[in-house]
Amino acid sequence: MLKRIFQVLYPEQCFICHQSVDDAVLCDSCYAQTERQWNYCESCCGGLLTGSHCLPCELNEDVHPIDHYIVGYHYHHAMRDAIIRLKFNHKMHMVRVIKALIEPVLIEHKDLLETIDWIVPMPVDRVRLAGRGFNHMLEVVNSLQSLIDRPVEYDKLHKHAFSIPQSNLSKYERATNLRNAFECDQISGHVLLVDDVLTTGKTLQFASQALKNAGVDRITALVLAKA
Ligand SMILES: [Zn+2]
Ligand SMILES: [Zn+2]
Repeated sequence: MLKRIFQVLYPEQCFICHQSVDDAVLCDSCYAQTERQWNYCESCCGGLLTGSHCLPCELNEDVHPIDHYIVGYHYHHAMRDAIIRLKFNHKMHMVRVIKALIEPVLIEHKDLLETIDWIVPMPVDRVRLAGRGFNHMLEVVNSLQSLIDRPVEYDKLHKHAFSIPQSNLSKYERATNLRNAFECDQISGHVLLVDDVLTTGKTLQFASQALKNAGVDRITALVLAKA
């Protein structure tokens, strides 16, 4: 038991591939396989070839509830494994892999993160919470808090369970269902909303709209990985 505790605190094995390491959560080869996400528009998260903003965002043609995106990695290798093992297999020590991978991303955006008032994890609905037993993003956010040094607000933004399963609906109905799923108590300031994987971005946008409706002035979305 003591050996097990010691191993979790000071790992001798890579948390992802179990190769031996010296006091690190990832081995060099798992770390080398990860790929940072660079080419995305900071305002809408759409793909880009160069620069930091796409043309519509540059021209202010698109209005989004999210003011700024920070995206960590491509959704594969160590980051993907860590998210899946944490979320579905309850491997809580994967939080340490995520923290190790995200730390350099946060350092790069230090100036922006200094203006944050609250860190908000993407909520999960009651039904998922009962099935999974925990909100994995709350675990991630609690561990990132030592790097960002701002309070975590986990009890304002709520997600309702869908009354109709998403799979039974048309694309339009699905968006309406998702839009109505988020509710937020009064909150203000600059929120860092943290989510695991960005696919269409709709969940983040509707959650952000609920935050803005509740009084938030500014939202930065931190996404661990983009699919
Ligand atoms: Zn490894
Ligand atoms: Zn854009």
